[in-house]
Amino acid sequence: MSARYVIIGMGVAGIAAVEGIRKVDPLGEITVVGDDPHGFYSRPGLAYLLTGEVEGEHLFAYPPHELHKLNARFLRGRVSRILPAECTVALTSGETLAYDRLLIATGARALKLDTAGSDLAGVVKLDDFDDARAILAGAKKSRSAVVVGGGITALELAEGLAARRVKVHYLLRGDRYWGNVLDEAESRIVERRLQHDGVAIHFHSQLAEIIGRKGRVAGVRLADGTSIRCDMVASAIGIAPRLDLARACGLKLDRGILTDEFLETSLPGIFAAGDVAEIMDPETGRRVLDSLWDSAREQGFAAGMNMAGKRVRYLKAVPFNVTRLAGLTTTIIGMVGGGRDEDVIGIVRGDSESWRQAPEATMAQTGFDVNHVRLMVGRDRLLGGIVMGDQGLSRPLEALIRERVDITPIRARLLEPGAPIAEIITSYRADLAAGAASAAASD
Ligand SMILES: Cc1cc2nc3c(=O)[nH]c(=O)nc-3n(C[C@H](O)[C@H](O)[C@H](O)COP(=O)(O)OP(=O)(O)OC[C@H]3O[C@@H](n4cnc5c(N)ncnc54)[C@H](O)[C@@H]3O)c2cc1C
Repeated sequence: MSARYVIIGMGVAGIAAVEGIRKVDPLGEITVVGDDPHGFYSRPGLAYLLTGEVEGEHLFAYPPHELHKLNARFLRGRVSRILPAECTVALTSGETLAYDRLLIATGARALKLDTAGSDLAGVVKLDDFDDARAILAGAKKSRSAVVVGGGITALELAEGLAARRVKVHYLLRGDRYWGNVLDEAESRIVERRLQHDGVAIHFHSQLAEIIGRKGRVAGVRLADGTSIRCDMVASAIGIAPRLDLARACGLKLDRGILTDEFLETSLPGIFAAGDVAEIMDPETGRRVLDSLWDSAREQGFAAGMNMAGKRVRYLKAVPFNVTRLAGLTTTIIGMVGGGRDEDVIGIVRGDSESWRQAPEATMAQTGFDVNHVRLMVGRDRLLGGIVMGDQGLSRPLEALIRERVDITPIRARLLEPGAPIAEIITSYRADLAAGAASAAASD
């Protein structure tokens, strides 16, 4: 009899798991259950829907005929219980599915504000396609909005609403944007661009209450007593893995579902991947959440292969996140926010050096008014980097960081004041590649 696979969650981890299973087992019966009425789409793309840069249909990167080729059953529904003793899952529809291998890929949900007034009409978050639609509908009727939250999604909300000609008031608790990741110069670059687009940034501001009139948002009151009139409040204050199913069936949890290096949970035959899973970070030796699109895809694929019987070890990769901060393409690689370790030295270069012609510039874009790079240099390797604007350096840097390449031969030169770091890095990469090629030729 062919194996039966059930996957809970039709996000990128769930879909990649189907691909992983099919790589190993072309015949097994696969059922994917997802409760999002829109099926599978790009959640990072929701930000571009808000700004109007893409249409909704462009977010559905997997056309129906491609999904069909995977030869799986895609079921719109909600799983209400996992029954490990019987190897079944129950759906709210009453249907029951039997499995030999189960994957939990239920993702994470956006946290909601719990301030007084947060249930008023006009209080929104950006978690899924329906949220994006609700924001767009709300923006049409709104003159001003307050945005709350310190990370990328909050920024996307601010940009999206500003692009829809809504006056945006962006509340930041501290004295700068995303201070635990960006350095001060980088925060100021982002803030200046937002302000240029008409966003009013309120530093040291904390939401105390959302004021309503006739059940709708009419304004906010801040902790210092000041008030701002607005028609919408948009928040992005963090995410929480969806753990209810895993908790109810007795899986071991921490902040997410604990998995081993094969992405199997504490119950044999049940796997977890994506935003819901905690995975091993070889850098720290601890299990961590890794809530990124590419990580969810890679985990889903590896989990799928493991479910089908091929043993594939998955360890957390060096983070590599390409995003946009106030319209500025930004790649964040590895460790960038630290600086506590004395052996780590940060070096920064701006427009005085051009890295536009860097080889391997797979994402090269020109025409940015700002170009900026920051490297975190460890004792004998690069630990992280931020590339803002022109992306010519991001792939060479990623390779050096991810492959933990020994940079001892170039470290002193990199740290010289005003050193042309792009040139040093790209020529070092070229030397290494040439060395590897001649070694291979002489074998
Ligand atoms: C606005 C936004 C912007 C983002 N931008 C970026 C970015 O720039 N770069 C980046 O790397 N990442 C970004 N992310 C994060 C990225 O989208 C996630 O890391 C990724 O989608 C996680 O995939 P997943 O498959 O684990 O979970 P999800 O995409 O959350 O999919 C899980 C699915 O399971 C469904 N589900 C849950 N419970 C059940 C149940 N009981 N029964 C049936 N179905 C269920 C959920 O409804 C959901 O559809 C962004 C996310 C958002 C929301």
